[in-house]
Order: sequence, then C-alpha cells, then structure tokens
Amino acid sequence: MDVETTMRVRKAIEELGPLPVLDRTVRKVCALAEVDSADAELIAAIEHDEAFAVNLLRYANSAAFARRLRPSTVGEAVTTIGRRDLRRLALEAATYRYLERVPGNGGVSRGHLHLHAVAVATCAVEAAERSGANADEAHLAGLLHDIGKLVLPLVFGEAELDRIAQGARNGSARAIAERAVLGIDHAEAGALVALASEAPAGVFEAVRLHHEMLAGLSPTTACVQVANAAVALLGGATPEAVGCDAALALLGFDLGVLEELAECVVPEPAQPTAPLVRRVAELERAASTDSLTGIANRGHWFTFVGERLAAGCSGAVFVCDIDFFKQVNDTYGHAAGDAVLVELAAVLDRYGFAGRIGGDEFTLWVEGDPRRAAATSNDLVAELAARLGALPSAGAATASVGVAMTDRHGHDIDRLVEAADRALYRAKSSGRRRACAA
Ligand code: GH3
Ligand code: MG
Repeated sequence: MDVETTMRVRKAIEELGPLPVLDRTVRKVCALAEVDSADAELIAAIEHDEAFAVNLLRYANSAAFARRLRPSTVGEAVTTIGRRDLRRLALEAATYRYLERVPGNGGVSRGHLHLHAVAVATCAVEAAERSGANADEAHLAGLLHDIGKLVLPLVFGEAELDRIAQGARNGSARAIAERAVLGIDHAEAGALVALASEAPAGVFEAVRLHHEMLAGLSPTTACVQVANAAVALLGGATPEAVGCDAALALLGFDLGVLEELAECVVPEPAQPTAPLVRRVAELERAASTDSLTGIANRGHWFTFVGERLAAGCSGAVFVCDIDFFKQVNDTYGHAAGDAVLVELAAVLDRYGFAGRIGGDEFTLWVEGDPRRAAATSNDLVAELAARLGALPSAGAATASVGVAMTDRHGHDIDRLVEAADRALYRAKSSGRRRACAA
C-alpha cells in the first residue's frame, strides 16, 4: 500500500469511529454478564443507554436475529436469554448500530452485511466449541471479519467497489480483485480498523487473515475461515471451491463438518417445552409484531396510534406501498422480496412508529407538528429508493407514499388512514416513487 492510500484509509477509519467492541454500554454489559451480576444491575446498565436498549430489542426481534427467543422488554431479554448469549446479543446489536452509521458499502445493504456477519459469528462459535478454541473470541472475530468492506467505499467510492463486486462477489477472489485495483483489500482495511480500535490480538489476526490459505493460523482465525466456508455453502458454493483445508486440518475437522456448521444458522422451530413465562412473552410478541420485519403488525399499529390520537396527540399518518414489488418476487424469488420488505421496514422504523398492514403495504405514525411531520415525506421516498436500490436483488423497486395530517383530517384513525390511502393512490397513478398529501 502506498503512503497516500494509507493516509486516506486512516482518515476514513477515523471518520468511522471506534468499533462496537469499544462502545461503552457494550463493554459494561459484557463485563456485568461475565461476573454473574444481579439481573437488576444488568437491566439498569442496558436501559441507561436508551438508544442501545431500543436497538437491542429491535435487533432481538428482527429477522436478522437467527434465534428462537423474541424478548419484548429488556428485563425479559436479561432473564430469558442467558448471560453468555446476552453478551453475544449485545455485540451483535452494537455491530448493527455501527453498520447503520455507514453511508454505503459497494452495493450490498447493511442488513445483508450484518446477516452475513451474524451467520459467520454463529458458525465460528460452533467451530470453536467443537475444537476447544476460544468461543467468545471466535464470535467477535466472526462478527467483525468483513468490517473492512465498510471502509473501502469510503475511501474509493461506492461505484468503484460495485464494479469490483460485479466481477468477484465474495471470498478470496474478491480480495484479490480489490488488491489489484485498489492496492488494498477489505481484510487489510478491516485489520487497520481493528488496530485503531485496540481490538484483541486474536480478533485482529482473524480479520486480517480470513482469506489467507496459510499454515500456522491461530485457532480463532481457523474458526472464522471454516465458518465463512460453511456460510458460503449456504450461498450455493461447493465445499471444494471454498478452500479452507489448512484451517480444517488445524482444528482437526474433515470437510463434512462444514455442512454441520451451516445447519447452525438455520433457525430451529419453536419448542413446545419452553417455560410458561417465555411462552407468554412469545405469544404477546407474536400478537403485536410482524414476524418477518419485527415492526408492529396491523392490529398493534392501529391500537397504538388510535390511543395516541384519542389522547389528543397531533401528527401525520403515512401509508407506504412498494412499487413494482411483484417483479422483485418474479425475477429474484420470494427470499429477495422478503429482504426488500425487511429493509423498507428498517428505514420506516427510524422515521416514526412503523407498522406492516398488508403484503407490501406499510403505515407510519410521525408524532409532533403535523406539517413538519408530513414535510419529511419526500426525504423518506428518496431514502427508500436509495436503500432499495442498494440491495443486490431489488430490481427497480421503489416506494410511494400518501400522507394525511391531524390538523386537516382530524383524530379518527380510520379516517386518517383512508385519507392517506387515497393520497397513496394518487402517488401511484401519477408515476410512483413519490409522496402525495391528502
Ligand atoms: P404496484 O407498483 O402497483 O404497487 O405493484 P406491485 O408490483 O408492488 O404489486 P402489489 O402491491 O399489488 O403486490 C403486492 C405483492 O406482494 C403481491 C404478493 O405476491 C407480494 N407479497 C405479499 N406478501 C409478501 C411477503 O411476505 N413476501 C414476499 N416476498 N412477497 C409478498
Ligand atoms: Mg406494491
């Protein structure tokens, strides 16, 4: 790497800020979880950082959290998830928050990057437990192994990274192409992030060498390589093509282990033997949450917003529908369609109280001055188009929005939604990818 590139990479890393490992709340939660502290102390530590607590619950209830438990309060998360998993959940949620800060990453959505990171972390833990390596270190290294993919677009621009990704989607081929074009690859860039954040040495090595086929790797690096290969199998690669022989040998595994590890990331069905408390929480959650996107379902959204309106709160109601969504399903498959729904929900959720009321139809309640709330609709449409456009398989999908305000349409929830729906119809019929006010 030449001096100028090094300087540019360092500057981008500075802008990115320290890794989630150094997040104060995460460190505190991890430390408390480790020493078997009282539940109340742990709950207080999480709730003290409101943004973190919200994010933790949102993440624990999203499609990205490939586990069965769906806590609806921080207290429930602490009492039902178990200390070791809670530590990991905190790190996974913090990584999500970190990824959300990044403007773009070469055509792959943050959601996808995070799903991949969590899948590799889960497999790396399994590989570590089977081989006697350090499972916590393997988890963190798996979570952060691709962190360099966030840095490269900041330095070299998204268009350049998109071009490289077109030619070599993943794996060591991608790293080789990055080195040839940019003079640095995402593993090297990620190692610089780890170094700047004073991540543990084992994590630093695993990030740096996760594509290197070398003898003498550390067990943590080997776990990440094997996990990465197992996840690649899920994406359709053949075991021979993923090439992690040295890592397998080091951990005492044969090739067959990859398939077993890959099974870890497929969520298990709910167990009827779950304790009553957990079952009740699950039922409560299921009754109010859309299971795909983790946001409110139709019933819960109408009840909650209806109560706010009845209490005299002002604001704006948005109804949002994806444009050309059928084409996404037809062209790229149902799973790609699902990813579009999850991404759209994540964006809406940041604007206000979001709900999914039908297949590709969503509602949003933005409380406050109704005119000011409604004025965000154009930004929302633009952000939705950009975020959907950045997904690898969303085709030309965008979103249209209709808005109704309490100062014009009153405080009756049904009337507001009807008015917003009529405005949505106008947005659709006048060309889509736009917002119309009722
Ligand atoms: P328009 O631009 O007019 O909105 O057209 P559209 O293609 O988006 O069509 P429309 O809104 O009428 O179709 C919604 C589609 O959403 C139909 C259905 O197959 C699909 N769908 C509904 N629920 C789900 C789901 O949970 N996952 C996926 N992948 N697709 C869904
Ligand atoms: Mg639609």
